[in-house]
Amino acid sequence: MKRFDTIKKWILPTMMWLVFETIAVTLWLAKRNAFYLFNFSYIGTAIAVGFLLFQLRYRHARRVAQFLVGTYMLVYLGLLSNENMQIEGFWYYLFTGVFEAATIHYAVAKIFGPLIFGRGWCGFACWTAMILDLLPYKIPQQPRKKWGWFRYVMFVLSFLFVSALFLAQVSDMERIMFWAFLIGNCLYYAAGIALAFALKDNRAFCKYVCPITVFLKPMSYFSLLRIKCDKRKCVSCGKCRQVCPMNVDVTDNARTRKNGTECILCFECVRACPKNAL
Ligand code: SF4
Ligand code: SF4
Ligand code: SF4
Repeated sequence: MKRFDTIKKWILPTMMWLVFETIAVTLWLAKRNAFYLFNFSYIGTAIAVGFLLFQLRYRHARRVAQFLVGTYMLVYLGLLSNENMQIEGFWYYLFTGVFEAATIHYAVAKIFGPLIFGRGWCGFACWTAMILDLLPYKIPQQPRKKWGWFRYVMFVLSFLFVSALFLAQVSDMERIMFWAFLIGNCLYYAAGIALAFALKDNRAFCKYVCPITVFLKPMSYFSLLRIKCDKRKCVSCGKCRQVCPMNVDVTDNARTRKNGTECILCFECVRACPKNAL
């Protein structure tokens, strides 16, 4: 039995690692570029390590993965390699018709990947949330607001911004994209921190502002990896809902459950459940 439990702990991290390794090797061979092999192997390994540490009950497991991936993407890819991985970078590469950097990142982490691992990006890798999760309001202190529409405004604004640059045929777009990445990130951090304190909710930015959720939410609806409740074990104590940073009704197993597409796979509910029902 003990041996079976040990094997079980390795299954999810290994599966995650294999998914990323498959992507790494496929892109390496398809694009004939070893960078993709390194990039996705590194990200997959960091996330697998986070999952494994969680299974081994290490308190800061998710933080380890967040910092390994988040700092790599923000500092190495963004600041040192001048790759704009924000949504503006996605539009930019999309308009230039190049399937590189941000378009590949979005395809893997935010558009098609969520069909497999839902919003695991938001729980284990995002460099914005990497900072927001350090703030004091891990459990929301106020009821959720109906401000989710604002994400669509942000989404459209980012699209219009890059479209305007193309229409105006601005020269030196690469440089503008680098500055957009720098300024955009500063604004995101400032808005995210201000909202977290104003609404007493670390993840307020994710709930109301982040434009990337326009991709993430519909795709994660179909996610293969989901938190499910074993009704035979559940005693309806409500602890899982109390600790959920995204207000998900996790005891409801339906895909249509309340705030279902908000689940960031942070596993706080799993950790809190006294009956191992999740
Ligand atoms: S919702 Fe946006 S800011 Fe929040 S974790 Fe996801 S991608 Fe990052
Ligand atoms: S606490 Fe559970 S239901 Fe809520 S976001 Fe985290 S994993 Fe999802
Ligand atoms: S914490 Fe566990 S036992 Fe309590 S309501 Fe949630 S799933 Fe049920």
